Amino acid sequence: MMTDLEKEVIHSADAARRVARQTLAEATAGKPHKGQRAFGWKDAEHVEEREAELLQIARSDILKGKKVETVHEEWTRLKVRSPQTPPGKTIGYSSVRYVLRNPRLCGYRSYVPQEVRERSGRVDPVEWLIERTDGTPVVGQWETIYTPDEWRELIDVLDARKSTGRGRKVGSTVTKRLMTGIARCAKCGTGLSSGMYTRGTTSYERYGCRKADGGCGSLSRSGPPVADYVEKILLGNLKKQAQSAKSTEEEDPELTKAKKTVKQIEADKAEARQLRADDELSLAEFAREIRRLEDKEREIKEKVSSLSAAPVRAGSAAARIVREWKNYTVDMKREEMQKSIESIMVKPAGKGGAQRGAFRPELIEIVWK
Ligand SMILES: [Zn+2]
Repeated sequence: MMTDLEKEVIHSADAARRVARQTLAEATAGKPHKGQRAFGWKDAEHVEEREAELLQIARSDILKGKKVETVHEEWTRLKVRSPQTPPGKTIGYSSVRYVLRNPRLCGYRSYVPQEVRERSGRVDPVEWLIERTDGTPVVGQWETIYTPDEWRELIDVLDARKSTGRGRKVGSTVTKRLMTGIARCAKCGTGLSSGMYTRGTTSYERYGCRKADGGCGSLSRSGPPVADYVEKILLGNLKKQAQSAKSTEEEDPELTKAKKTVKQIEADKAEARQLRADDELSLAEFAREIRRLEDKEREIKEKVSSLSAAPVRAGSAAARIVREWKNYTVDMKREEMQKSIESIMVKPAGKGGAQRGAFRPELIEIVWK
């Protein structure tokens, strides 16, 4: 026997599939969804006053800390039904979550490719917003219930609860994306969260620093160019290891030399300090000497860290990874990345922004383990 919730989920998955049949071109033009009306609207364009009011009250209550479960209980008492609710029933919990997250509420248009819907059943539309080529969301031609800021604020609160395990679902079915947990905001250090966006006929990951995760909120970057860059460097390191299989046992002679130089500089600094203490060096001479040694030290330490960057692994294993990389799944790539990469620091682009321009590798810094 199926539960009511399961029936409802299946029922609305059918509805979702119907909706997905419309063309992406229509979606990109901001045309309203066809087919069944959405909760909050009486048709494709016009707001249903009572439902819109319920959504507005729910939003402000949730921002004050009310749980979605409590909103669901209240709506159940009010005998609220969604267009997908089976006859004789009231709205289900997952539908309440769904209608509150609907980008349509603020006029944003989402488009989930049919094959994704078929694979995953109910998909979070927040992750499938359509963007214009300038990176701004496509805005639909219908009456709205929230402003974009109000909607985003609600989504951030709901997502923050999900990630701290406070709501009902912890999102266990969500597959990890390539760089989540690895990519961080270089400005505030917060781990970047990611979402899927659709532009034209392609969907891509976008990573951002979010205030809801305790971050500064000043960073948003398209994922694929960053991933390509990081993969290229990682594979380059692995190739190097594969070519010098003996590197598993022996330290790079250049690294040994650099480490020795660091020691020498430390000794020189100690000597300069001693000379100063004995008054053999004037304060000006001492200052100059220390600065010269510190400049040299900084330079050589950078060299040491770049030479010891690639963690040493058996040459044959490295060669195999390089060979098979193109067949690796996202999970496998993540696993391999995490073996040698501590984090990928993504720097904000500063004034003007890099989102529209070409990829700028200087905004990415890989911190090796
Ligand atoms: Zn940040």
